[in-house]
Amino acid sequence: MTQAPARPSSGSEPGNEAATFESLNPATGEVVGIFPIHGEAEVRHAVARARKAAEWWSGLTFKDRKVYLNTWKATIARRLPELADLMRREMGKPRSDAVMEATLGIDHIAWAANHAGKVLGRHRVSPGMLMVNQAATVEFRPLGVVGVIGPWNYPVFTPLGSIAYALAAGNAVVFKPSEHTPAIGEWLVRTFSEVVGRPVLQLVTGQGETGAALCRAGVDKVAFTGSTGTGKRVMAACAETLTPVVIEAGGKDPLLVDADADVAAAADAALWGACSNAGQTCTGVERVYVHERVYDEFVAEITRRAEGLSAHAGDDSKIGPITMESQVGVIRRHIDDALARGGRAVVGGAHAVGERFVQPTILVDVPEDSAAVQEETFGPTVTIAKVRDMDEAVALANGTAYGLGATVFSKDNGMAIAERIRSGMTAINSVISFAAIPSLPFGGVGDSGFGRIHGPEGLKEFTYAKAIARQRFKPALALTTFERTEKADKRLAAIVRTLHGRG
Ligand code: NDP
Repeated sequence: MTQAPARPSSGSEPGNEAATFESLNPATGEVVGIFPIHGEAEVRHAVARARKAAEWWSGLTFKDRKVYLNTWKATIARRLPELADLMRREMGKPRSDAVMEATLGIDHIAWAANHAGKVLGRHRVSPGMLMVNQAATVEFRPLGVVGVIGPWNYPVFTPLGSIAYALAAGNAVVFKPSEHTPAIGEWLVRTFSEVVGRPVLQLVTGQGETGAALCRAGVDKVAFTGSTGTGKRVMAACAETLTPVVIEAGGKDPLLVDADADVAAAADAALWGACSNAGQTCTGVERVYVHERVYDEFVAEITRRAEGLSAHAGDDSKIGPITMESQVGVIRRHIDDALARGGRAVVGGAHAVGERFVQPTILVDVPEDSAAVQEETFGPTVTIAKVRDMDEAVALANGTAYGLGATVFSKDNGMAIAERIRSGMTAINSVISFAAIPSLPFGGVGDSGFGRIHGPEGLKEFTYAKAIARQRFKPALALTTFERTEKADKRLAAIVRTLHGRG
């Protein structure tokens, strides 16, 4: 059996209308589907159709869109087993993980649909003392057409984090799923079309070039999830047309364990956070910093829990294959480098890296400047380091270029520690919980990107603020006129002195 990345069909060239590529089951190499490689012309055509559809969609009320989106959500919920099977076949994740992922995605559609009106609809703001004769209002208008470039690791949950919020805000969307998960992307778009009947959400398929074409196709915003390196390329392409971007890039998320933590719960969370989805989670736990007083207990606990956990193709597997062939090399490099530089594997190790499955690997005594601590591994591996106190833990946690998520385990100091971590999201005494709370914004700082999906911020991300000042009655002090008198200037200065002159 060979590793199974998506691959172009023989003889096909990107840009050629007839060109296609296959998406393959990463566990077996079986062909899951054959999809067109859309070139620049097809992508532009999709954007033009979306722009027409956006006229209709943006003209609907929030209530109308809510009905459509909730109908779509209900369709996905009813057909969950079908979607989960497809996710298992195309991406490789265990069926129960697929169900959980899709469930969270459904919850996000519901939240976005149900809250868009309240968050984005026109509302009054105070005009202030100087403009008391005005009625000031703001609303958040849709941008038009949003291009969504999705990853393969959470092929439902992650793109929906942009798609659902962009649609609920009144935009049309052109979605380019990863070349590794086009069938899942197609399923999402097809079920939406069955409900809405107009090309408000469209699919373009292909590889990196198709994503690049989408960046240049005149969309009004690009929402990208993927690696930091590709995020930079997306941003450069978007800069040519001043197209704004949201970049949800990678992470190197730390988990901190304080001396007063529930060590068993922390070990459970660290193991699941590191190894679920075969470690291919942007907010996965990749580094653990443990207070010296509970370090030995923590290492013993996580080691015990990791024993018996294995990655395999069976139906009872809790860890699936590594989806992308090239990733196996990255994981191997990080483990080998960590071991060569004095690290020890208390679980797994160099032999844990197979052709397509990687067994859980827990590394200790790894130098902080090694690749396994600094770079995104995206595999079922984790490093554990002993720290003197939480000051040292926070300093080390903040010691990479990334700043996506983080986790803190402490009975008394969770909030105080969480506030000091430079990350877009932090979970206290649970792991990755923030991603499942639709009202919380999701996104990072530094190399993890910028902009937010989810929550009110995620809705506003796909809008522009439209401010309106309406004069209710003539001002006592006319300011915006060449008729302004010296007396008016003096009165204005006096008012300002009264309002702001103290302190
Ligand atoms: P990429 O960043 O290369 O790809 C992400 C998405 O961008 C895919 O849909 C990809 O298409 C598309 N894309 C690729 N090149 C371009 C381009 N020039 N312009 C526009 N879009 C483009 O990630 P990979 O999937 O290759 O994974 C590589 C690494 O990225 C992983 O090992 C992991 O470290 C990180 N990653 C992080 C994720 C996260 O959630 N933060 C998600 C996925 C990956 P296509 O797949 O068709 O090439």
